[in-house]
Amino acid sequence: MIKTPDMSAKESLPSLLDLPASRWREAMAQWIDAPYRADQVADWVFRKGVYDFAAMLNLPVEVRADLTQRCSVEPPSINRTFESSDGTQRHLMGLADGASVEAVTMPYEDRVTLCLSSQVGCRFACRFCQTGIMGLTRSLTTGEIIGQALRLRTELKAPDLPVNIVLMGQGEPLDNAEAVAQAITGLQDPVGPALSWRRITLSTVGVVSEIRRLAELGERRPRLAISLNATTDTVRSEIMPVNRKWPIAELLSAIRSLPWRARERVTFEYVLLAGVNDRREDAARLGELLRGLPAKVNLIPWNELPGLPYQRPSARTIEEFRLQVLRGGLDALVRYSRGTDIGAACGQLHAAVRRSGQERSDLEVPTSGA
Ligand code: SAH
Repeated sequence: MIKTPDMSAKESLPSLLDLPASRWREAMAQWIDAPYRADQVADWVFRKGVYDFAAMLNLPVEVRADLTQRCSVEPPSINRTFESSDGTQRHLMGLADGASVEAVTMPYEDRVTLCLSSQVGCRFACRFCQTGIMGLTRSLTTGEIIGQALRLRTELKAPDLPVNIVLMGQGEPLDNAEAVAQAITGLQDPVGPALSWRRITLSTVGVVSEIRRLAELGERRPRLAISLNATTDTVRSEIMPVNRKWPIAELLSAIRSLPWRARERVTFEYVLLAGVNDRREDAARLGELLRGLPAKVNLIPWNELPGLPYQRPSARTIEEFRLQVLRGGLDALVRYSRGTDIGAACGQLHAAVRRSGQERSDLEVPTSGA
């Protein structure tokens, strides 16, 4: 028999969200006699968006009461939502220990993209990124990562559109590789959200040791995006300290040796900083560096952050850079970030309640009692 946990400490209950849903049967076997009850719980959680055992009406009352005492399926809460004029929403997500993290909802015509965080803060200190400036507070658990997607999905205005997940919020996913790998597995679990690997993208600064280990995920390996951001080690080390440990050649060789699937492509993100990495030579070198890789390039004009010594290049420089990359034989798109007016854009996330933006008070929930 399992000891009854202390009910005053709700947050200390084990979260089923830490496990892929197809393992809930085994996890719950010690508490409930009929294995199909676990599938019923998964149905409430993943199909109906119900996270309170008491409201899972097809479970016997005693089972509901028992589960409430033993475990939790509660995802992070939405403490506040800011909505951009382009429809993007930035959410402050409250975690069980009182920490908070940001997640972003980006609606498109044919899909919704959810941008999730993997850590509270980040320890990689990229010079041009707000999250890098705040430093690392802690890594998220698997349940907290999957939970962001669950909670945001419950709030979608167009719940029937396909959902894409990008691990591009706060934190470096490969600095929390174990929990992130479990979350990626959980998101693809057929009893759970059942997303295809094609709908999940992991973005990394280039933690080479962990990129190599991604191969262990086999068919579950998500799409990859690499924040390259420079074409020489001198410049990259200057703006991304991680490059001193894993320079460009090592990073690219790790990527080359991943087992690429048919038609799969790897995205290289390239934040354009005026006078730093936006020269014609950079564009040409990008083509040389990535030759032979199934690569495409996303050029991200730098999003202004107060107090940082960078500037976004002119529209003309950006376009010339793109054309030069194309001439080198690579696909290149300019990605203007969404949600810049509410601090939801690439590089702007740092989880303080700041920038008023257009707040959606209807989604506000009291933080006390969480
Ligand atoms: N740590 C991972 C996940 C975060 S993704 C990574 O770096 O890949 C965030 C993306 O936004 C990265 O490609 C990063 O290079 C980019 N970025 C950071 N600050 C930015 C800014 N101010 N403007 C535009 N893009 C930025």
